[in-house]
Amino acid sequence: MDNYFTGDKRNLLPLLSNPFFELVRHDVIDPLLLEVDFVFNLACPASPVHYQYNPIKTVKTNVMGTMNLLDMCKEVGATLFQASTSEVYGDPETLCMDYHRRHGVSVRIARIFNTYGPNMAINDGRVVSNFIIQALRGEPITIFGSGNQTRSFCYVSDLVEAFVRWMNSSDASPGPMNLGNPNEFTMLELAEKVIALTGSSSAIEYRELPADDPKQRQPDISLVKKNLDWQPQVQLSEGLEHTIRYFRERIEST
Ligand code: UDP
Repeated sequence: MDNYFTGDKRNLLPLLSNPFFELVRHDVIDPLLLEVDFVFNLACPASPVHYQYNPIKTVKTNVMGTMNLLDMCKEVGATLFQASTSEVYGDPETLCMDYHRRHGVSVRIARIFNTYGPNMAINDGRVVSNFIIQALRGEPITIFGSGNQTRSFCYVSDLVEAFVRWMNSSDASPGPMNLGNPNEFTMLELAEKVIALTGSSSAIEYRELPADDPKQRQPDISLVKKNLDWQPQVQLSEGLEHTIRYFRERIEST
């Protein structure tokens, strides 16, 4: 299901010929009822540029959208996988836990850390796609602040593997559970890696650091290691190579 706010139909092309795949154009803000076993709720833009574009719509997507899906899961007895974010540290996922405790809805709350990979939008605005596109176009690489802040980047296929393992596991605990790759890099290190892997001659340009930009972020994944025997397989250089190949083709074809 997609409302195509940030999604791209091109990413779905490989699935459309599969007779077992069904695509629904719908916005989670509107109630819906589908008879399914599992719901993976990833319905919110993840990039600051997109989620700040219409903040009220973002709140509606997160609150009304999640509630609509919880109601649907309650109705049909489905399990809800909820994409949370490492940004929320400290706050409980009230809605999901209330439905879980009150109505016995089966939920899995995943705290997702920085993720990247092919099929990201060119205008996504987050650091990995920004740096790659800038490097491929020979434009300056924009580092916000000193570049000494750190992030830990998880490749998309690793993250999806964790989603599926968790849904299929017999362990019905709701979480939250951290999902991410604990290998930590500074933005300066990321920029240097991207420049080396693309063979770009881009220079580095320092820009003002956005307000409240976290200095460091690294997931502790001991819980998911223990519960699902999962850990990331694709390290940053390899994941960047796949992502660079994707963006190179996208840029050349437009
Ligand atoms: N960042 C940067 N240049 C960019 C975009 C982002 O230096 O063109 C920095 C940003 O300030 C943050 C880090 O990269 O410190 C990760 O930003 P992103 O938006 O990808 O994800 P966040 O971790 O902030 O959600």
